[in-house]
Amino acid sequence: MKEAVKTAPKIGMISLGCPKALVDSERILTQLRSEGYELSGQYNDADVVIVNTCGFLDSAKEESLDAIGTAMKQNGRVIVTGCMGKEPELIMNKFPDVLAVTGAHQYEQVVNAVHDAVPPLHDPFMDLVPAEGLKLTPRHYAYLKISEGCNNRCTFCIIPSLRGDLVSRPIHHVIAEAENLAKAGVKEILVISQDTSAYGVDLKYQEFGWKGKRWATKFQDMCEALGELGIWVRMHYVYPYPHVDKVIPLMNERKILPYIDIPFQHAHPEVLKLMRRPAHQEKTVERIRNWRAMCPDLTIRSSFIVGHPGETEEHFQFMMDWLEDVQLDRVGAFKYEPVSGAKSNEIELQIPQEVKEERFERFMAVQQKISAAKLQQKVGKTINVIIDEIGEDGGADARSEGDAPEIDGKVFLRDAGHLKQGDIIRATIEDADDYDLYGVPA
Ligand code: SF4
Repeated sequence: MKEAVKTAPKIGMISLGCPKALVDSERILTQLRSEGYELSGQYNDADVVIVNTCGFLDSAKEESLDAIGTAMKQNGRVIVTGCMGKEPELIMNKFPDVLAVTGAHQYEQVVNAVHDAVPPLHDPFMDLVPAEGLKLTPRHYAYLKISEGCNNRCTFCIIPSLRGDLVSRPIHHVIAEAENLAKAGVKEILVISQDTSAYGVDLKYQEFGWKGKRWATKFQDMCEALGELGIWVRMHYVYPYPHVDKVIPLMNERKILPYIDIPFQHAHPEVLKLMRRPAHQEKTVERIRNWRAMCPDLTIRSSFIVGHPGETEEHFQFMMDWLEDVQLDRVGAFKYEPVSGAKSNEIELQIPQEVKEERFERFMAVQQKISAAKLQQKVGKTINVIIDEIGEDGGADARSEGDAPEIDGKVFLRDAGHLKQGDIIRATIEDADDYDLYGVPA
C-alpha cells in the first residue's frame, strides 16, 4: 500500500478569486483526492497543475493570466478552469500549450481533463477523503455554497453571463453538508452565493425531508435548520427583501450570528436604477431601523461602488449622507472598474479616474470615523469571540460575532496562550482603533 501512495500522481493547484471559486476548488480537490491523487504544494513537484481563474474584473483577468504563466513556466502541464474559462481564446492565444480550458462549475470536465493528463491509480483499500471533503480554509471555519449563478442583471456585473441563472442546491443537501462540517470540527459556517435571499426561487421552494421534518428550499428554512447545528452560522450576500425580516429574530436568539452582509453598492435611487440593483427601495432605511430594534447587536456589513457611470457629485453626496444616517458597522468600497461586457460601460457619463479616487478617499474617511466610533462603544464590554490563531507571544488573533474572516476586523487578545484555534470564548474589550478591537479572555 505504501508503494501505491508513493507513486500516486500529484496535483498542484492555485485558486484565485472569490470564496465561491474557492469552494469550486475544494470540490475538485475532494473528487481528485477520493480517486487517489495526491496534492502538491509545489508546481515543480506536481504531475499537472490546475489554475482556477477569476474573470470578474480586468485586473483579476490579468492576475489569472499571470498565474497561468507562472504555472506554465514552472511545470508546463496546466489545466485552466473557473470564470476565465468563458474566454478560452484569450487563454489559448497566450498559452497555446495549456492542456485544457473549462468554465466555472464544470467539475466533471476538470476531473476528466486531469484523468487525460495523468490517469488515477486505483486502490480500493485507500480511504483518503474525510466526510466533510477537503478544505482550503483553516479547520475551524468553512464556506458553504448554497447556489450557483444569479437571476439579477446588475449592469456593472458580468457574473450571470459567466455563471448563468440561479441554480439552488436542494435544502437537504445543504444541511447535510453543514452537518458533516460541524461533525468534523468546523465551528463557523459562512453561507455564500450570489444572492442568498433568493435561495430556492428556481426550485419553487421545493420541500425535502431532514431528520423527520419537512424543510422548504428557502432562505428562512435554511437559517432555521442551520441554526440547529449549535455552531456559528454567518450570512453573506443577502438583499433587503421583506422576507429577510423573518430571520432577524433567529439572529437575536443567536441561532445564527447577528451579522448580515448586504451589498448595497449605492444609496441614491437614480444610481441604483442605473445599476439595476435588486430590492432597491426607499424603505431600506426603515427596514434597517426595524432590524436593529429586533436585534440590537446586529452587525450590518456592506460594500459600495464609487464612481459608477452616471454618478453625479449630488448622487455621491447623497450616498455619503445616507452612510452617516444609517451608520453601517462594516463597509468596503470599490472604485468602479469598466469590466468588459458590462452594460454600465454604455452609460454616457463615465467618471474620470481622478474623480473616482477623490470620491473613494472621501467615502472611506467618513466610514472610518463611523467604524471607529462604533468600535469605541464596545470598549469595556464582554463579547463572544472565536480564536483564529495563537501567537508566539501568548496572544491570539480572534474575531467577534460581527467580524467575518478576511473582510472585517479582528479582536487581538492578550494572555490567550492557553486557548486553541476554533475556541469560542468570552473576551473583555479593553481598547479599539478604527477597525479592530483589543482585549483579554474574560
Ligand atoms: S446580484 Fe447583481 S452583482 Fe450580484 S451576481 Fe447577481 S448580477 Fe452580479
